[in-house]
Order: sequence, then C-alpha cells, then structure tokens
Amino acid sequence: MELYRLTIHELQEMLRKGEVTSRDITESVFRRIEEVEGKTRAFITLMKEQGLKQAEMADIRIKEGKLSQLTGIPLAIKDNMCIKGIKTTCGSKILENYIPPYDGTVIERLKEHMPVFIGKTNMDEFAMGSSTETSYFGVTHNPWDIERIPGGSSGGSASAVAADECIAALGSDTGGSIRQPAACCGIVGLKPTYGRVSRFGLVAFASSLDQIGPMTKDVRDCSILLSVISGHDKLDSTSIDVEVADYEKCLGQDIKGLKIGVPREYFIEGIAPDVVKSLWSAVKELEKLGATYKEVSLPHSEHAVAVYYLIAPAEASSNLARYDGVKYGHRASGTKGLMDMYTQTRSEGFGQEVKRRIMLGTYALSAGYYDAYYKKASQVRTLIKRDFDEVFKECDVLLTPTAPTPAFKIGEKTDDPLQMYLSDIFTIPANLAGIPGISIPCGFSREGLPIGLQLLGKHFDEEKLLQVAYAFERHTDYHLKKPVIGQDAL
Ligand code: GLN
Repeated sequence: MELYRLTIHELQEMLRKGEVTSRDITESVFRRIEEVEGKTRAFITLMKEQGLKQAEMADIRIKEGKLSQLTGIPLAIKDNMCIKGIKTTCGSKILENYIPPYDGTVIERLKEHMPVFIGKTNMDEFAMGSSTETSYFGVTHNPWDIERIPGGSSGGSASAVAADECIAALGSDTGGSIRQPAACCGIVGLKPTYGRVSRFGLVAFASSLDQIGPMTKDVRDCSILLSVISGHDKLDSTSIDVEVADYEKCLGQDIKGLKIGVPREYFIEGIAPDVVKSLWSAVKELEKLGATYKEVSLPHSEHAVAVYYLIAPAEASSNLARYDGVKYGHRASGTKGLMDMYTQTRSEGFGQEVKRRIMLGTYALSAGYYDAYYKKASQVRTLIKRDFDEVFKECDVLLTPTAPTPAFKIGEKTDDPLQMYLSDIFTIPANLAGIPGISIPCGFSREGLPIGLQLLGKHFDEEKLLQVAYAFERHTDYHLKKPVIGQDAL
C-alpha cells in the first residue's frame, strides 16, 4: 500500500513503531501530487521545500520520543487561513500576493504537533460558492469524475483528500462549504459548533456563520483533527470557553437506544432519488445497530436559504470593505485620485460572484431597507434555531441528506446563481443555528458518484455526531472506496 493512501491514525501507528519516517510519507504525498494534480487542480500553492524541511524536523522530534497526534503528517490547508510567510489568496485576485505576517490560531495549534504543511488548497473566491468554480485561480475537478465539480467552497481540500494528495485537510464552512464538498468527494467533513474553533486568522466571509473544521478520509481522523484545533481563544471574541472533549474516546461507544430524528422538510422535490435511497438504507443500518428513528419537523427550514442570502452577503459586504487597495493586496494602477483608485481596485480585484454578494449585502443594509431585510432575516434566523431546540428535546441527532444531488457537471450551474444557491439547502440551517454538523459517505449514485449523509447535533455535542458517524462507518465500506485517477486508472 502506498503511504499517501493511508489515514492519520494508520500513519501515526507506523511512525510510532519506527516503520516509516515523516520524510517517506511526505515524499510519497508529493509524488502523488505530481501524478494527479494536473487532473484535480486542487492546490493554489504547493509548499514542497518547506514541507520536506518540516518532515525532517518532525523526524527529529519523533526520534526524541516526542510523537504527538499529528507529528509528521502531511496536511493541506484551505487558502483562506493564514500561515505565516505563505501566500493566502482566498481564491481572489485582490489577495493574489498577500503574505500574512502571522499564523491563524488553528495553524498555531496544529504547529504544536509539528505536522507537515504541504500546500494551500483552491476555493471559491472568498468562500462564496458551492463548486470551486469562482476561484480566480481556475476550477478544481472532482477526482471521481474530472468533468464534475468537487463541491465548494472548500473544493480544493475535498478533492485533495479524496485523491490522496494529502492525508487530511482543513476547510471552512459558512453555509455548507465543508460538508457539501465532503459529500461530493466521498470524504468526511465536520463543521463544528459556532464558537468551538477559533476564527482568528481565517479571512472573514460572514462572521456570525464562519467555522473552520476537518476534512478527512475517515471519522477517526476527523476526531483527531478536531481535538487539536478546538478550544477557547482570546483572540477570537466569539470563541467559547467550553471544555474540549477527547473526541477520539467517544468512538466505538455503542449507539443502542440513541434517538435519531429525520426532518420531514428535508425530503423535498428536486432531491435525487439515489440520494433518498442511500439515506433510507443508512437509517436502516443505524436501526440495526440499535438506534431508533422518528420523523420530526423543522417548520421554518424552508426559509433558511432566503435568510442566509440576506445575512451572509450583508456581513460579507461589511467584511470585504477592507480590500480597498490601501492595506492589502491588489491596487489598480494609473488611477486618478482616491475614489477612482478604490473603484478601479475593487472592480479589477473581485470576481462576479463576490461583486454580486457585495451589492446584495449593501442593499440589504441600506437605510430604509434594514428593517425589511436584515432585521427580518435575523428574526427568522431565531425561529430556525428554535425549531432545532425543540426537536433536540426529543432526539439526540438529526439525519438528513448533505446535498440534494451528487456532484454536478462543471459549468452546469454557473449561469444560474439561484440553482447554485440551492446546493446548500440542507447545510445552511446548521450555520444559522450555530449547531455542529458532519457529512459522511453513505452510498454511490448510479453513475458511481459519492453520496453523503449529514448528522446534526446539539450545540457542543460533536461527540455524539462522531459516535454515530463512527458506528455507521464501522459497519459500511463506502469510505474505503477510492476514485480511479492517475496511475490507478492503468
Ligand atoms: N455555498 C454557500 C455560499 O456560497 C456556502 C459557502 C460557504 O460555506 N463558505 O455562500
């Protein structure tokens, strides 16, 4: 078995026994990147030189007997998280040459374990999108079918994990950007509770919704990565001081008697029949393991997409005001005066989708419209959250599809933003309510494309999600199937 194929926990074990070195693993991963990156285009920046150096340092640390959770493991990071000295573009021309002078908190936490950072992954510009087609740096492809999108906005991370171009990755999720690409690429992706993981050093999109989370090959790896990045951070005032559980420990606990809710409103018209079929067989599988299920109702979820597309653009329009050609990144040349410089810089620096969001958001926040749009949306957001509070009185977790369809074709929805926005219909409510959600592989469509199921939990109950996800994973083999790409196709 090639080393790049393995998981964090498998490699950890081999490193611990001295069977391999971090250098072996890192070289194997870079060979794989050379083999398949031409097809997936998952990365914006590769960090080969730095990566191999970090691997050597990790090997020294291991020799000293100081191996910890992620020591020597090659990781990929979505390009909206700051790594000191490494370009962080956010998929945008406006940040094309931005080099942060500091590490984000998640990076700092990872660095305590001395992993190997192998590169920064492609994403929709400023994380606005569901297909990784809006990146200034080109489209990322789905390794299961390179004519299809990998999902988005963390499509680069998802594609890299699925194609074994890294061992695990970080993504960010504002309305589904970890879970939906995880579903499209047949991997595990978890959006933590709002406040669980620090957002310091994450380029802000919609600050009341953004969270960073793990994208991995299996549930155990997801729990390892989550344990490392979670926890209070005084540099992020929205991070919450709630004790971090040992997420790996909850794996393997039995799910007998656990109550699963299946929300009626999530089985809408337009959802692919293969998705529905896989979902129900997953419910049966969990029943076999001793869980019970019941239908529940989240009556306000039908408004979630509309609410999200007021709140997220409103917050984005304010967050993105800082890109004015003065403080960071791109500045238009040959302009006449300050106003012209601002205007030209922003017209040149932002792509279509980002401009659309800024316009929507600015409109929604304008004097005279605020009450009708932003305020109203915030009120409905509270109703959506209350729906969840109600159903969690009677169930431990909710089970839903992650996305209405498997990965669609590149270009299929680029001319129809509303269709694109609907890709997140099942993931958005969790961001609005601030609750955690995980997507895990639960089947394949007739065309052989991965299908994901989503589990949603109570605030700060990531443990339960991981416990159920792991029980399901242990009794199924969807997560073990690999896309055929590169040498595998021979
Ligand atoms: N697809 C959604 C959007 O375009 C969600 C993106 C995200 O979670 N970053 O806004």
